[in-house]
Amino acid sequence: MSYNLAIDGPAGAGKSTIAKKVAKELSFIYVDTGAMYRAMGIFFCDRNIRPDEKERIADSCKDVQIQIAYEDGEQQVFLNGTNVTGRLRTEEAGKMASSVSVYPQVREKLVELQKNMAAVNNVVMDGRDIGTAVLPNAQLKIYLTASTRVRAQRRWKELEAKGLRSSLEEIEADIADRDYRDMHREISPLCQAEDAIYLDTSEMTIDQVTERILKLASEHFCL
Ligand code: C5P
Repeated sequence: MSYNLAIDGPAGAGKSTIAKKVAKELSFIYVDTGAMYRAMGIFFCDRNIRPDEKERIADSCKDVQIQIAYEDGEQQVFLNGTNVTGRLRTEEAGKMASSVSVYPQVREKLVELQKNMAAVNNVVMDGRDIGTAVLPNAQLKIYLTASTRVRAQRRWKELEAKGLRSSLEEIEADIADRDYRDMHREISPLCQAEDAIYLDTSEMTIDQVTERILKLASEHFCL
């Protein structure tokens, strides 16, 4: 049996930073499912397929192969054999991911890969539908969130650190748009699973959140 820790929440809540740290402490594999949707987004962008081209998207899903590997503990995403990890974190990839993640063909493909990974590994998996749809039997589920303003500030700082100038107002508007799309889509919308623990990180440091989750993990897993 494998241990599964599911972390869901909106964009910029700190999921990936926290999940990575928690996974390292627990010696679990960290699975970033957003990266898989971003890789799908890149595939459609590269083919000049727009997010509203429902049929082309449904048709071309059969041509996409996403694979996950780990290098020095860091998740690497391969799109049809090419490592696209370096292209995943742009605002464009995020927006495209959010737009194409509404299609059932896109979700089915990735959910299968995610379930398979969690069946044979101890994982910390983050995303939007992990506790509700991908791993409904996860032994521990966390719903991680923060105010829209705080999340926009975090994203702005992340981009600034990479030398990418951007406007806080635009990022905040994008985040609000993305939240709306993620929470209102028909299939697997972002919501807190009934048995998930709610954590608002607006006023918490990364270390405080990590410690809190590690404590919960020690109570839920027999490690
Ligand atoms: O978490 P991240 O910002 O990388 O995710 C990008 C987009 O992928 C999200 O806005 C969401 O629309 C989609 N996504 C999803 N289900 C997941 C993970 C991400 O629909 N499990």
